[in-house]
Amino acid sequence: MPEQDARLDPPADPDPSAPNPPRAALPAGDGWPHLGGLPACLVLVSTPIGNLGDMTTRAATVLRLADIVLCEDSRVTARLLSALGLRARLEPFHDHNEDQRIPRLLEAAEAGQKLALVSDAGTPLMSDPGFRLVRAMVAAGLGVTAIPGPNAAVTALALSGLPPHPYLFLGFPPPRGAARRTAFASLRAAEAAGLSASMVWYESPHRVAETLGDLLTVFGDRPAALARELTKHFEEVRRGPLSALIASVAAEAPRGEITVVLGPPDAAQTESQAESLDARLRAELERNRLREAVAIVAAETGLPRRQVYARALALAGEAEG
Ligand code: SAM
Repeated sequence: MPEQDARLDPPADPDPSAPNPPRAALPAGDGWPHLGGLPACLVLVSTPIGNLGDMTTRAATVLRLADIVLCEDSRVTARLLSALGLRARLEPFHDHNEDQRIPRLLEAAEAGQKLALVSDAGTPLMSDPGFRLVRAMVAAGLGVTAIPGPNAAVTALALSGLPPHPYLFLGFPPPRGAARRTAFASLRAAEAAGLSASMVWYESPHRVAETLGDLLTVFGDRPAALARELTKHFEEVRRGPLSALIASVAAEAPRGEITVVLGPPDAAQTESQAESLDARLRAELERNRLREAVAIVAAETGLPRRQVYARALALAGEAEG
């Protein structure tokens, strides 16, 4: 959990010690979100990623009115509530107990209890627990809504100076080198098949140097950004080609919370990739039948067989015509 750094006054709460009114006494307009005239059953509440001033008034209101606030680490959420002068009934909700908690939470929501979900920081579900609960609530026809707010990925992307869309949010890369390089290689193969997007990862300061090195190996030296401690006192965004970021990390290891953004391939890179696919196919088509050439090149490049096959047919057609 990032340190809460109170640069702005917390939103005023008229009477933080007042007990929650019963559900029947909660008409639309009391602050609890309504959907189609009915109180929402579950509200996903975004909280600050480091700066208490980013807590929205609606988020504070929902935490005050909720019967149960589901949270990852109750100590972290208790600190936030205390900084805001709020009290709430906290219940732990994390990856290890999510499945087991869902049936009782559905029952509670059906019985009219108002549920709120927060994570330690930022937007719930974004590399944080909650997806399975939302899916179950939606399947049960129970109203789910969200109080939007801080999110490290989108903030880093907006500050990166790289094309903001399309973008892919990829959560944390696998921690082990081999699995990480395989994950990056499959994204590179998707690029070879036509994907062109900025990509965003969360990463720990201990692994960021290795991860940047793997990005350089797999994607080549393209523009990227490393955003750290966003919204906090030591906020910093380093921008540049991957090779420059690697040098900068070697010179001064970044501390704190880090988000990495990688720019899309440029036109020249896409073109040279297409040329090298054609060159590989031509070479294999000289030695093999079309089917075999396609199998060899698809395995080698990781490209979808159908795409390689279509290109091979085109090249074979050109050669005949
Ligand atoms: N749900 C959160 C959100 O909406 O941003 C992200 C939760 S994820 C478990 C935590 C990771 O997000 C951190 O390890 C770091 O990579 C990134 N992160 C969180 N706060 C950050 C900040 N202030 N600056 C940069 N990255 C941050």
